[in-house]
Amino acid sequence: MKNLGYYNGTIGLLEEMTVPMLDRACYFGDGIYEAAATRNHIPYALEEHIERFYRSAAMLRMEVPYTPVALAELLRSLVQKVEGDNLLLYWQLSRGVGIRSHVFPAAPAPASLWVMIQPYTMYDLSKPMAVITAEDLRYQYCNIKTINLLPNVLLAQQALDEGCQEVIWHRGGRVTECTHSNVHILRDGAFWTAPADNLILNGIARRQLIAACAALGVPIHEEPYTLAELLAADEILVTSTGALCAQVSSADGKAVGGKAPELLKKLQGFLTERFLAATEAR
Ligand code: PLP
Repeated sequence: MKNLGYYNGTIGLLEEMTVPMLDRACYFGDGIYEAAATRNHIPYALEEHIERFYRSAAMLRMEVPYTPVALAELLRSLVQKVEGDNLLLYWQLSRGVGIRSHVFPAAPAPASLWVMIQPYTMYDLSKPMAVITAEDLRYQYCNIKTINLLPNVLLAQQALDEGCQEVIWHRGGRVTECTHSNVHILRDGAFWTAPADNLILNGIARRQLIAACAALGVPIHEEPYTLAELLAADEILVTSTGALCAQVSSADGKAVGGKAPELLKKLQGFLTERFLAATEAR
């Protein structure tokens, strides 16, 4: 298949799939999701994504109707059905089907599992990103990977409209994250990243970058830092499943970073090798 959609056991091409109108994802965005990069039909860091998926579900009081092992097996088997060496594996769980009511359905409907798999190109790390900065007006549950992403959608579009790739959000000057990525800085040979509290999503790529810093002996600060510190940093790094460790070269139209290229290259090389090794054809 050239792509794949899955809904509660039904499989088809994405453009041909339909879902029930009463699925709570449709009118409340009442669900959670994950997305993993897949190379050679091997999803990268699948266990970490599944672990976060269960954590998000628990925070929304949703029960995943699979064991982690069964879910991983199902996802791997679906990936095998799609052509192409580089795919994005996306899956989401919604609080099932029920007549619209804010409270959970009285007769609990089983949660609905949705999967979408399609060709995907990872962000080319040789290309620095241009970003805009903006006040983070989201709520206080940013640590849950919910499908409720309207502020992210609006700001991602604003960045695109301004010819940029991402938005760096801050709350009263404290840097949080981006619309679909985490952001970090290098300063005086050390690594700084916002703490994994309820103001950011604890990205899998963020954790991999922290592990890379640890392996390379770079001091790690999981502490708040400000927008002024970010703009003056030696390097600004953006990480996500699709952009393992991208450099930022401009923010709001002004040049930033570019002062620690060797350390940046080392980290990018480490993360790229790790990705390639874990997804080598078997
Ligand atoms: N922050 C937000 C808001 C995101 O949506 C994402 C990814 O979708 C990330 C951070 C990065 O997470 P990951 O590294 O797991 O892709």
